[in-house]
Parts: sequence; C-alpha cells; structure tokens
Amino acid sequence: MIHDLRQISGQSISAPILIIGAGTAGLLMAEQFYKAGIRTVVIESGGLKQEAEVHPYNHVVLSGDAYAGAAKGRFRCLGGTSTRWGGAMIPFLREDMDPQVWPISYEQILEPLQELEGIFQLNPGPYQLTDTSAYMGINQNEFILRAAKWPSFKLRNVANLFTQSIHSDDDLLDVWINAHACEFNIERSENPSQVIAKSNNGNILTIHANQIILAAGAIENTRLHLLLHQQHPKIDPPASLGHFFHDHISAWIADVKVQKTNALNRLFGFQFEKNGVMRNLRFELSPSSSLRIQGAPCFINLVYEQSQDSGFESLRKCLQGLQKGKWPELSVLWGLVRATPWLLKALFWRYFYNTLSYPNDSQIKINLVLEQIISSGNFIGLSKEEADAFGKPLANIHWKIDPKEANRIIAIQKSFEHLWNHSPLAELGQFLAIPANEIEKKILSAPDTYHPCGSTRMGHTIETGVVDSNLRSFAFPNVSTISTSVLPNAGGSNPTLMMLLLALRLAKDHISKIQSRQSNELKTTD
Ligand SMILES: Cc1cc2nc3c(=O)[nH]c(=O)nc-3n(C[C@H](O)[C@H](O)[C@H](O)COP(=O)(O)OP(=O)(O)OC[C@H]3O[C@@H](n4cnc5c(N)ncnc54)[C@H](O)[C@@H]3O)c2cc1C
Repeated sequence: MIHDLRQISGQSISAPILIIGAGTAGLLMAEQFYKAGIRTVVIESGGLKQEAEVHPYNHVVLSGDAYAGAAKGRFRCLGGTSTRWGGAMIPFLREDMDPQVWPISYEQILEPLQELEGIFQLNPGPYQLTDTSAYMGINQNEFILRAAKWPSFKLRNVANLFTQSIHSDDDLLDVWINAHACEFNIERSENPSQVIAKSNNGNILTIHANQIILAAGAIENTRLHLLLHQQHPKIDPPASLGHFFHDHISAWIADVKVQKTNALNRLFGFQFEKNGVMRNLRFELSPSSSLRIQGAPCFINLVYEQSQDSGFESLRKCLQGLQKGKWPELSVLWGLVRATPWLLKALFWRYFYNTLSYPNDSQIKINLVLEQIISSGNFIGLSKEEADAFGKPLANIHWKIDPKEANRIIAIQKSFEHLWNHSPLAELGQFLAIPANEIEKKILSAPDTYHPCGSTRMGHTIETGVVDSNLRSFAFPNVSTISTSVLPNAGGSNPTLMMLLLALRLAKDHISKIQSRQSNELKTTD
C-alpha cells in the first residue's frame, strides 16, 4: 500500500525489513518479501513520478572532473532510475571478475539468472552468439559477439512490473513516498534499529526494523554509509568506503560510411522477440585477447543517430512515455504522422524481418564503452561545506579521467578497425576512424555512462571491502547494501543485470534466515 509522508506525520511503525529506496533494486526485493509473506516497509525519497529531468535532491559537490551521472543519471520516484533506463540486460563475462577481489564466484551470482529473466519476461537463451555462420562468418578470436536482452518498454519500469504488490491493500508491503531517510540509530545486536525519514514539508516517520537494506542507488548508498559512520562515530569506517569510485567511459571511435544500408541495418538493428523483448549486437574483447588480458573490459556497438524532430525520435519518445507512464505530447504524435513513409517501412521490417528499421539518413557511429582505470583516488565523500534540504552533508564526488585512457581506446580502436576491414563488415560500410589526436583531445572530457560502481565494494574482509559476499556491511551487520556501488569493477557490459542478480540473492538470504528463525521459534513454543 502506498502512503505519502507529505500527508501524514508523527507515525512510528515497525517491520522485520526496511528497504531504503523504491527504485530498481528496492522494488525487486520488496516483491520477493511480499511473495514470501514477510512484512516490509519501503521508504522512497521521491514521489509517485518524477516530472523534471533532474531532481533537486540530486545536487552534489564535484571536486574533480564533471560527473554528469550525479544529476542526470538517477531518478527519484516510485521505480527510481528504472523509469528512464535503457534496459540492456546482460551478464558480465567470467573474466570480468577477478577472484582475488570478488568474494563471490561467477556461478553464485548467476544462479538466479533464469528466475530474473522470468520476472522481466525475457526469453531464456545464451547472451553470446556463437553461431558464427549466422553473423556473416565474423571471426571471434579477438572480439566475441554478444546480445543484451531489453525488456519491453513498459516492463523496464519496476513500478509497472510490480504494480500489484505495491498497490495491494494488505499491510504486508508499506511503501512510503516523499520519505527521505535522514537519521539512523543502528543496533549491532538482535534489537531493532531505528531510521527517521522526513518529507520536504517537515513531516516525520520513525521506522523500527531488524534488517535495513540500503537500495538508494550507488551514489546515495555511499553517502548513506558515510552518514551512518558520521552518526556512529565509535565505529571505524572500512578503509575502502567511498573509494575506487568508477564508471564506464564512452568514446566515439569511428563513423561508418554506409555502402549496403539494408544489410547493415539487418545485422545491427534491434531484433524483436516474444513479449516485446529486443536484442542487439555488440562486440566484446574476447577473454583470450591480449588487450582484454591487460585489463580493458569494454563493449563496442553501432549507434544510429537522428535529429531530435525525426519520426524515429518521435517513436522513441512515445515508447519511453510508456516506460514513464506518461501519454505522448501532441508534438510527438505529429512527428510520427510526418514520418508516415518511414513508419510504413518500419512496420514491414518489424513483421517481415523482425528487425527495427532505421531511417536511411541516419548517421552511424561506432561507440566504445570502456571500464575506466580504477583508482582509490576517485572517491565519494561528504561535503564539509554544503548540506541537503534536511541539513545533512551533500555527497562530494571526486572523479577524474586518467589521460592514459586515450592509449587504451586507440589500441582497441585499431584492433576493431582490423576486424572490420578483414571481415564482410567492410562490404557493408567503410570504417572511418576518429584520428588519434582527436581521441586524445576529447578523452579528458569523456562522458560517464551512468554506471557508478565500486564505492561500497564487496570484499573478502573489512580491510578490502565495505560489504561481504552476502552484501552485509562489515561495520553494521544488520545493514545490507544493494546497488552497482557493491560491484568492485564495472566489467565489460552494462552492470544492472549483475546488480539485480545480487538483489535476488540478497532477498533469498534474508527470507531463508527469517523463515528458519520463525520455524525455530515455533519449535520452542511447541
Ligand atoms: C538513461 C539511463 C540509461 C541506462 N541504461 C542502462 C542499461 O541499458 N543497462 C544497464 O545495465 N544499466 C543502465 N542504466 C543504469 C541503471 O539504470 C541503474 O544501474 C539502475 O537503475 C540502478 O538501480 P538502483 O536500484 O541502484 O537505483 P535507483 O533505481 O535509482 O533507485 C534508488 C531509489 O532510492 C531513492 N532514494 C535515494 N536516496 C534516498 C533516501 N535518502 N531515502 C529514501 N529513498 C532514497 C531514489 O529516489 C530512488 O528511487 C541506465 C541509467 C540511465 C540514467
């Protein structure tokens, strides 16, 4: 059931589980507890929907390079960032996880993959495309071919996916919107901890819970950990807390001068599957490639670009409206009407080839998404000068791009250019490499890709991590954390699927502990 803290004040409630954040991971977990019959409270700092593109609570202090993801890469409302994300779901490669660093094995993380795919209505099946003959015989020695699975636009938003449990009228699941977690009194024993949430009109909610799950997104989870330590000064923070903050950086490595428009589109266009699921082709450095062994997890994809007022963009805006739960504006519908000839072709392609057809005048770019060089000098801390609307220190993000990235990008670009020019791809379009000096010039202002990782990393011990293999905080055992900040590195693909697998694992861990405690209590009463 949904409650709005702006309309109710002075309440004190309790539950075995409190989840902070009703976003992508938070609602997935809440649904698991709901299905297991475990009462859960979720507090969400935003409202039912976020209308503006940047939420005022996203303000941070930047002391390094510009980090756009802090303002534009996170959303505060029911569903959190899943109301806007692209939805590409794909697991890391085993080689992305160094067992010296990760306290959990690849198999352990991937165990609930089928279940997670089922939740998002993705079709089962491999992510790597090993049938080379279906892909023009492209040699997979240096780069392997993989395809992410993208849920239907509507189901990408977890607030749509789990609407039944969120809006049910029993008291198993209480979701409080406009309830921003501010103060903590954390118990390290079996006793319940206390969390105070506030709304922007001054209302207060006090929650008592045995287990607290921080699911407030990577940047906010890190800030909440730092606030926990500030509010519990006797407990030493783990040395790595806030450090090793990193993202993928994105670099444009080539343009494609098209020679065979339809054949290129057939290969790289989104393929439609059942349930509105889409898939598209990407290249990842193969585990045996020397560049990959030297440590450059990355993926390369083709991006078709159109002007903002094109029919293609209008269609995209309509579908994204479905994800946000918003009707398209008239100007967007008008854009679609103006693009009728392309729309008719796209419909034909949709049903004849099962492929998304791009307009013929698209600009085609080759884009590299690379795990940035990880350094403990990149960190999230607490600002000493600036506070949020509730008087708590803002996050201070110190993020820098290493000038050495340019050499890594140029090496991968050359290797991919070689693959392109020595494969049937060369017949589809000409690879026009971006000159090395331009890459060097641009790299220091390269964009992040809204994949913040590492700042509450998992580790074998408190000396090396903030949370353990079960995502429990080393310093506060009753507090668990779930966001991409627990991933020690961002890997060679989009990180959210790995995060969601960990969220399912964490929910199962809590459920089995609660259920075994309940059955022990029953045995004692018998
Ligand atoms: C445009 C865009 C495209 C993306 N595309 C992809 C993609 O294709 N594939 C991929 O893998 N990843 C993608 N990502 C990243 C992906 O969206 C995130 O990794 C994921 O949604 C993060 O989920 P989360 O649960 O950690 O955080 P969120 O979904 O952001 O949820 C956190 C919730 O916590 C709430 N909250 C914050 N602070 C507090 C507080 N103090 N008290 C109470 N509540 C609080 C927030 O309001 C929010 O609702 C994309 C991101 C963006 C922005």
